[in-house]
Amino acid sequence: MSDSAFHYVGGVLHAEGVSAASLAEQFGTPLYVYSRDALTRAYHAYADACAGRRATVHVAVKANSNLAVLNVFARMGAGFDIVSSGELARVLAAGGRAQNTVFSGVGKSAAEMREALEAGVKCFNVESIPELHALNEVAKSLGRKAPVSLRVNPDVDAKTHPYISTGLKSNKFGVAFGDARATYAQAHAMAHLDVVGIDCHIGSQITEISPYLDAVDKLLELVEQIESDGMSIRHVDVGGGLGITYDDETPPDIGDFVKTLLDHIEKRGHGQREVYFEPGRSLVGNAGVLLTRVEYLKPGEEKNFAIVDAAMNDLARPAMYEAFHRIVPVVKRDAKAHRYDVVGPVCESGDWLGRDRELAIEQGDLLAICSAGAYGFVMSSNYNTRPRAAEVMVDGERARLVREREEVKQLFAGESILPD
Ligand SMILES: *Cc1c(COP(=O)(O)O)cnc(C)c1O
Repeated sequence: MSDSAFHYVGGVLHAEGVSAASLAEQFGTPLYVYSRDALTRAYHAYADACAGRRATVHVAVKANSNLAVLNVFARMGAGFDIVSSGELARVLAAGGRAQNTVFSGVGKSAAEMREALEAGVKCFNVESIPELHALNEVAKSLGRKAPVSLRVNPDVDAKTHPYISTGLKSNKFGVAFGDARATYAQAHAMAHLDVVGIDCHIGSQITEISPYLDAVDKLLELVEQIESDGMSIRHVDVGGGLGITYDDETPPDIGDFVKTLLDHIEKRGHGQREVYFEPGRSLVGNAGVLLTRVEYLKPGEEKNFAIVDAAMNDLARPAMYEAFHRIVPVVKRDAKAHRYDVVGPVCESGDWLGRDRELAIEQGDLLAICSAGAYGFVMSSNYNTRPRAAEVMVDGERARLVREREEVKQLFAGESILPD
């Protein structure tokens, strides 16, 4: 973690110039901490590689939708990729522009389509024929034309976890490759749709470039057929999905990844088209940690448990995908390490954050769960009536609360009991 935003100074974990121990003291735990510098650097890695090329970055909002995080990207001129009208509202509230926003997702409602069309989103990434009909109807009722791209399922193996692989035939996402040409013809025939692009998203936490090259090859083959059918495809959206280092993964460097794809598309004779990237995890994942305090140490015959105040409701990825997150002490101790399962207080055996971790810790110590910036807070819930964590953004020597900790009374404010 040496040149990263999260690093040790004199044995104490810091986020940029701020001690994580002081953040926990000031804001309490569990606490999500983001680094503005890490967000900025990750975005620049994409944007710099796109500079001077026909390519744009659309931040996948679902990976981390905190307004302050989105605002950091909006200030740098980012576009956005949304999957609900709620995310559109967040983008607009954070200073992003609908004109730079693409709307993805397999189940957009008519009301969501209407809102997005009225706001003026750049493109609807449509995933089925019934959705094309629905969008055409909504656009007709507004007297508009909706810009559309079809999410094509290129049927490539992204070589990642089955829950986060989305580009295979067996998957709910996208239009099957074999049906795509005919589906484009149908879209073209609808009076209130304007076919403008093609998109795919083959999965997440992908650590190789080759599945992307395979997907792009299939997309470009289709583009040539579609154009020979009389449509013009202005942009090719390659989706998101680039992986990050949680443990010992070695994903491609972001700049190399972007350049390799753009060069490949150019070499295939499609350099005139605009290329869209939709990164989520690779922008925010390693820009955040989750701070938690050790409540109890519970030694056992087979296992020792470190019971902490964060749980699966705060960070669902371990329970959901058996995902690995590094767990490190906030203040290093000069003591013998023991092996622990780091678990939360929720009443589920699946409530664990890390297994078999060598840690030198005592009751009351602080731990940092690393790489928690993506699919962390956004997936958190109130299970066990646990208020959701606070979120803080560090910027140099300063730290700012960017989401207040929830209070219990907020959790049932909308509920009521029967009158008799
Ligand atoms: C989730 C998603 C992304 C972002 O994926 P990451 O793995 O976080 O980069 C991009 N595009 C679409 C359509 C998505 O569903």
